[in-house]
Amino acid sequence: MKKILMLMAVIPFFAAAKEVRVASPNGQLTVTVNDEGGQLTYAVALDGQSVLLPSALGFKADFGDFTKGMTIIGSEQGQQKDSYTMRQVKQSHISYEANTLMVTIENQKKQRMQVEFFVKNNDVAFRYVIPRQVKAPFAMMAASEAKNPKCAVIEFETTSFSLPDGTTTFVCPQIDPLKGWERTKPSYEEEYVANDVMNKPSKFGQGYTFPCLFKISGERREESGERADFTTGGTSKDESILSPLSTLHSPLILEGLWVLISETGVSSQYCASHLSDYHASLGGEGGGYTIAFPQQGENNGFGSTTAAMQLPGATPWRTITVGSSLKPLVETTIPYDVVKPLYAASEDYKAGRYTWSWLIWQDYSINWNDQVKFIDLAGEMGYEYCLVDGCWDTEIGRDRMAELSKYAQSKGVLLLLWYNSNGSWNDAPQTPRGCMDTHIARDREMAWMKRIGVKGIKVDFFAGDKQETMRLYEDILFDANRYGLQVIFHGCTLPRGWERMYPNFVSSEAVLASENVYFSDYHARQEPFQLTMHPFCRNAVATMDWGGVIMNKYLSKDNKSRHQRRTTDAFELATAFTNQAAVQCVAIQPNNLTDLPAEELNFLRQLPTTWDETRFIDGYPGKYVVLARRHGSQWYVAGLNALKEALTLSLSLDMFPAKTTLKLLTDQKNKKDGDIQTTLTELKTDKRGQAKVTLQPNGGFVIF
Ligand code: CA
Repeated sequence: MKKILMLMAVIPFFAAAKEVRVASPNGQLTVTVNDEGGQLTYAVALDGQSVLLPSALGFKADFGDFTKGMTIIGSEQGQQKDSYTMRQVKQSHISYEANTLMVTIENQKKQRMQVEFFVKNNDVAFRYVIPRQVKAPFAMMAASEAKNPKCAVIEFETTSFSLPDGTTTFVCPQIDPLKGWERTKPSYEEEYVANDVMNKPSKFGQGYTFPCLFKISGERREESGERADFTTGGTSKDESILSPLSTLHSPLILEGLWVLISETGVSSQYCASHLSDYHASLGGEGGGYTIAFPQQGENNGFGSTTAAMQLPGATPWRTITVGSSLKPLVETTIPYDVVKPLYAASEDYKAGRYTWSWLIWQDYSINWNDQVKFIDLAGEMGYEYCLVDGCWDTEIGRDRMAELSKYAQSKGVLLLLWYNSNGSWNDAPQTPRGCMDTHIARDREMAWMKRIGVKGIKVDFFAGDKQETMRLYEDILFDANRYGLQVIFHGCTLPRGWERMYPNFVSSEAVLASENVYFSDYHARQEPFQLTMHPFCRNAVATMDWGGVIMNKYLSKDNKSRHQRRTTDAFELATAFTNQAAVQCVAIQPNNLTDLPAEELNFLRQLPTTWDETRFIDGYPGKYVVLARRHGSQWYVAGLNALKEALTLSLSLDMFPAKTTLKLLTDQKNKKDGDIQTTLTELKTDKRGQAKVTLQPNGGFVIF
């Protein structure tokens, strides 16, 4: 990993400042920190427009209260440049420039903490740094207060995010603990709600999971101008009364700002957090959200909801990505910029595609004969992996699994094996259980997998966001790396910087994923909405194992019973590009080898799964999305339409030379009977590098 780290222009500043400010390298994004009235706040603005109103900073530790009586006693500015490579995210070579600010604050008892800011042109990251407390020289302090703690418990944070009134939300509720199937929640598998208002209770009263997407209304820029407020349908979830697309392209909308709030750098050294419900007043200028810690009931009620660290120590980073368009959000690398690898990869892990019987053939398919069919399918398609889902230990048996792995290798396919994370934290009954919850069990199990040539694991059914559970994720990843195993998590938390921190981490579910499309017609109908949301939020901050490009017309083994898939084939093929995971599921079925048109099968055979570059082209969360991704020298531009009507877009395709003839795989509507068929045609860009494409309802396209 090539790395250039420069610390330049360090300007010590020890005056009794009450307000300090840092701007992005281009000067447009600013953070202002203030200690007025003993309340530490930060405010964020882009081009002078408020992104966050003054919002609280602070926490209560066991040894000291850093929520009030705070005084800024110093600050230090710096610049940071770095470049690094990533194998499994949206971009392979990442370089950044950031300005940094370290603010030192003292509480009433003269105890110190620092807030570290990292500001790029479209991203702010910040965290608390807690130093060892110097022995207080003041004789009036009690002996106990003069102690110099070497570790700390963070009881709660007052960290808040105060967004301007009228902000529109695109957020996913946090659910109560031990709810859902076999008491396995929370597992980040709730429904995002788009175009809603801030000032209402969340669905479960437990706030919102990261990442949270917001649209700040445009500000009045001309004296006679109307306020550019897009959220005309903002009080309703009814798609039908949302503003028409013509409004999306009105020039006034450009005055609004998109904001994505998330968290990164959560390791075994802290709990994972989420946002609270909206508070109309946070004691400052406006209302907003605060950082919320895990709930007591998570992990079956076991383990603390607080966080513990050594001193000196630091909290995870909280991130705010902001832009006048969605481009900086889709393309952000902030989750990876501020973290570092925690260990070296034990081998050169291979990306690839995998087949998966469980999605449509379900539990009954975990037997020798059916797994052979999905291994053969992977071999036939030239795919690298086949995932064997739960209960293989009882339904196939360990001895025969060794044979199955050998058989797979003879077909050029490697096995990934499913495991239950349990343990004592929920009732999920699928086996193998008790193989991933302790180091001793993992060591035995992973040594066996290495012996029989298994190359990855999918570990399911975790227990929430407590630090206890964060340790389990980290321990599984570290142990797996010693045995050359890549790791996919399901039923789990959002990965927060893990693609860089843990080099054998591949992706996580942490989304209401494809299994729900199988489970019900309601979710099948929701698929286009979900998959046009995630590029802007869930999949913008971390890789996502959605669980498959689905090619069956019906969600059934016979491909004619149960409910229909509601998307076109071109939509599904495009999801292989809009959904990002380096080990990507293609939920192709054995019957698809004979019932799919040859051009679709050929296209599926050559799907790449790793990206050197990703660009936002067009889109609106929950309505439509067009992304471009580059694999080597080949660009792919993929689009999805979740609207009920066809959508014609003029696309700027400047990644290709002007006046080029490209291939377009898309839906064609038969004029006679209205049937939709996939076509592979030519598309010519004009002299400005533009081309028009029409997307059918629940349809899609890929240009290459
Ligand atoms: Ca799941």
